[in-house]
Amino acid sequence: MTSKKVKKIGVLTSGGDSPGMNAAIRAVVRTGIYHGLEVYGIMRGYSGMVEDDIIRMEGRSVANIIQRGGTILKTSRSDEFMEYEGRKKAYENLSKRGIDGLVIIGGDGSFRGAQIFSNEFDIPCIGLPGTIDKDIAGTDFTIGFDTAVNTAVEAIDKVRDTADSHNRLFIIEVMGRDAGYIALHSGIATGAENILIPERKTNVNDIILSLEEKEKRKKLVNLIIVAEGDEFGGANELSAYIKSKLPNLEVRVCILGHIQRGGSPTCMDRLIASRMGYHAVECLIEGRYNLFVGILNNKMHYTPLDEAVKKKQRINDEWMKIVKILAT
Ligand code: ADP
Repeated sequence: MTSKKVKKIGVLTSGGDSPGMNAAIRAVVRTGIYHGLEVYGIMRGYSGMVEDDIIRMEGRSVANIIQRGGTILKTSRSDEFMEYEGRKKAYENLSKRGIDGLVIIGGDGSFRGAQIFSNEFDIPCIGLPGTIDKDIAGTDFTIGFDTAVNTAVEAIDKVRDTADSHNRLFIIEVMGRDAGYIALHSGIATGAENILIPERKTNVNDIILSLEEKEKRKKLVNLIIVAEGDEFGGANELSAYIKSKLPNLEVRVCILGHIQRGGSPTCMDRLIASRMGYHAVECLIEGRYNLFVGILNNKMHYTPLDEAVKKKQRINDEWMKIVKILAT
């Protein structure tokens, strides 16, 4: 990668949307303009780059969006960008406008695309971790996680009220195909009995034993939280298994689904999105390329994109222990 002075930058949101992406777009656009750069919004992630759906952004283009969920630039998954021919088209569309730097707001898939694109066409790329799953190593926070987890907590608290009134066990499924952070955080914060996540093998017989034992002690058990990607299956599978073993137990299932992706971002998500967006542009200006901007121990932290796509955050075993102890 040659070090060159950027003059025109593009910003896009890619992969799964997450609340706070708009705050990040706003920060990139306004910091770019502050530094005298031309800023372009690329619509629908890499699809807009391939299909030449690119618009000039002004400071006013990002007015009144900091509090809005979703992404004004829209997002998508682009199969064409997975192929060299698609990426070449994307490069041609950038070059004809003179766009010489990119900020990509997305998850690890989007970072992988950015890394490959940048190596092939010598375009400086900076990633911002925008994902509700928080499954990217090199940052304590990802844009959208805090909002998603707070939405889950609010919903689970409501389910707990009804579960408690009827002495029912509710199995609540939260998002997380490959990552259990939403389940783990929301489960601890709502006092769940058990939390099932893809990163840990699920022992259903242990769950049955613990439910039986608690029934004997007359301990009311209300909530089990399951990440959708748990290897045993989702909430429906677990419920069917528990009912087959403990037919007298009243079990209900609640799948939270896409409400976890939407809504106005929390203060935390707006703040990290604003800080990260600002630093993404600073990086491009300083000639620091092909990394993603994270926050570790409340300090900006920069991880090369190729490392980001190799490493995943690890679940802290102590947290799993806390779940067990507090559920006794
Ligand atoms: P996320 O960024 O949320 O993890 P995806 O994994 O779906 O979402 O990736 C988003 C997009 O990034 C894909 O649709 C594709 O266009 C691009 N991408 C992902 N992996 C690659 C790859 N290996 N090569 C090129 N582009 C990729």
